[in-house]
Amino acid sequence: MRSREEHHDVVIVGGGICGLATALALHRIHEVLYHKSTMQVKSTRMEELRCLKRSDLIQVLFDNLPVDSVRLGCQIVAVERDPSTSFPILYVHDGSIIKAKVVIGCDGSNSVISKSLGPGALNVLPNCVIRGLTNYPKGHNLETRFFRHLDVGYMSYGRIPIDDNLVHWFVDWPYPDRDTDAPKDPKFLMELAMQQIKDNPAEMIEMVEGSDPSSLHLTRIRYRSPWHLVFGNLRRGTMTVAGDAMHMMGPFLGQGGCLALEDAVVLARNLARAMPMGLEGSRVGDGELKKRIETALENYVRERKPRVLRLAMQSMLLAISISSPSKIKRLLSLALLVVFFGGASLGYTRFDCGPL
Ligand SMILES: Cc1cc2nc3c(=O)[nH]c(=O)nc-3n(C[C@H](O)[C@H](O)[C@H](O)COP(=O)(O)OP(=O)(O)OC[C@H]3O[C@@H](n4cnc5c(N)ncnc54)[C@H](O)[C@@H]3O)c2cc1C
Repeated sequence: MRSREEHHDVVIVGGGICGLATALALHRIHEVLYHKSTMQVKSTRMEELRCLKRSDLIQVLFDNLPVDSVRLGCQIVAVERDPSTSFPILYVHDGSIIKAKVVIGCDGSNSVISKSLGPGALNVLPNCVIRGLTNYPKGHNLETRFFRHLDVGYMSYGRIPIDDNLVHWFVDWPYPDRDTDAPKDPKFLMELAMQQIKDNPAEMIEMVEGSDPSSLHLTRIRYRSPWHLVFGNLRRGTMTVAGDAMHMMGPFLGQGGCLALEDAVVLARNLARAMPMGLEGSRVGDGELKKRIETALENYVRERKPRVLRLAMQSMLLAISISSPSKIKRLLSLALLVVFFGGASLGYTRFDCGPL
């Protein structure tokens, strides 16, 4: 029996922050080109931190996409290059095949697309983080700023209000067993968080105690080495990666999601520059089209590398300075942070990735 085959111009694998934002950026550019609508993207240059619920962001991105451009429940299991056209072929879990001119892997830390580009194993830190949301119906009276308590040798906790009633908090936890899956049972996670926070200020204990059990998550901290960004393959042919699939880093700077949004803007901008009339409007042969897409993706990778490499280095040094059992390593990484990254400066939040 012949397997089902689909053909698309651009396929984005993964429907997280990066995948949805990339799809939306490409649609917005398409709208401007074909429907002559206007578009203005403004970026803020202020040094500030804002917290929002990931699910709200995902929902807003999803709601703004045309319904027929999203396919739910489609797991990509493998990818290879079509020997006759050199364009990518994606294999879906249900046995079907998708042929595409461009494939963008936004499939997160275990990216199938990233693996197909070459080696780049994930490193696991010996600690993990429990996160939760606490609702204060009468208001929390906390300042709108990010508070973090750091202790050498793992233990840290922190919080940041999302709005007048809702507060996001986290508690770090040493996680000695690197090979088992993170537990998910909310009751167990609550006990774990309470046990970890018990010697800390009452305000923090009450916050954890009063949190919504369904909001509790335990995440093991993984990162891809910054060397992967220097020496690894981030593009092959007309296929590339974005978001965590390209630059998974520990959550020490809280920038992974922001970088994913920047990737989306830069990627869409480079594709639009190379093909101002879109893929279907380019009216060139497959050979020329492939060359143009490759140039666009190469420019995207080149543009993103310095930005993501800098943050990946900073995040890794911060991780070592907090959690390394070696005092020398902790001091050395602190010194490097001060010399090269301005210590605790939030300068990295002032980055402007340019307009769409
Ligand atoms: C504890 C913690 C705290 C964090 N805090 C912050 C913060 O404060 N600020 C910030 O900016 N970032 C933060 N981050 C980082 C941020 O969450 C990630 O960088 C961001 O979610 C990456 O988005 P993504 O779309 O690239 O990947 P993901 O969110 O991982 O999405 C990948 C998507 O691809 C899908 N997928 C995977 N494989 C396949 C496949 N084979 N086929 C089809 N679909 C597939 C998945 O189901 C998922 O929907 C934090 C991360 C952690 C762990």
